[in-house]
Amino acid sequence: MNAQRTPLVAGNWKMHGSLEANAALLAEVVKGAAVFGRGQVAVCVPFPYLAQAQSLLAATPISWGSQNVSQHTHGAYTGEVSCAMLKDFGCRYAIVGHSERRALYSEDDALIAAKTAAALAAGLTPIVCVGESLAERESGVTAEVVRRQLAAVIDVVGASGVAKSVIAYEPVWAIGTGKTASPAQAQEVHALIRAQVAQTDAGVAQGVRILYGGSVKGSNARELFAQSDIDGGLIGGAALVAQDFLAICAAAN
Ligand code: PEP
Repeated sequence: MNAQRTPLVAGNWKMHGSLEANAALLAEVVKGAAVFGRGQVAVCVPFPYLAQAQSLLAATPISWGSQNVSQHTHGAYTGEVSCAMLKDFGCRYAIVGHSERRALYSEDDALIAAKTAAALAAGLTPIVCVGESLAERESGVTAEVVRRQLAAVIDVVGASGVAKSVIAYEPVWAIGTGKTASPAQAQEVHALIRAQVAQTDAGVAQGVRILYGGSVKGSNARELFAQSDIDGGLIGGAALVAQDFLAICAAAN
């Protein structure tokens, strides 16, 4: 954490939830999150639940967002959801380039850069995910992989686009596996990411929030968030349990 940057903890619900379960989860999160400032806590919910999130969170400090966007503004793209539609439902954030989208839906760096640009053009704050696989880490190419993923986005949206984005470092081997990067391992990559942004614009690099994601829990969040270049977390599994999510939010604030 660095006092210059406002921390953010964003939940990624993935494809989980129901109207009933969401209402119970959000009621508890709203109650517990009253102590946090506006813009410091967010939930990224499945598309069908955006209206529910909007109605339950509009009067609270908690923001909401999507887990994906279309790179297109409108047209014959069956099954896709545009950024303007997300704005209609009050979204502030949109996760872009999550490793599950990269791995399961073949989203490549160019597509993710296009989605980031589309989100920015619509006034959404993209949470741009980058991170290496286990094989990549073991073969010593973590820095190279993350640099390539981020460069693709910076090339398209520039420093001004990065300034309006959030970056999430999510080592693929730590997502949903219970294996967390050590605070030192995470900090090392976060520092590289900030240095890469600084090559384009030092001021933007100082201000941009870089979240860590990958098996963050109440028990490890504080140590991770204590690192100078870690500005909060992108939280999967633990975001589905109100008390766990709130413990992580408390660790960031
Ligand atoms: C994620 O899906 O972005 C994530 C970090 O998941 P988990 O916290 O479950 O590892």
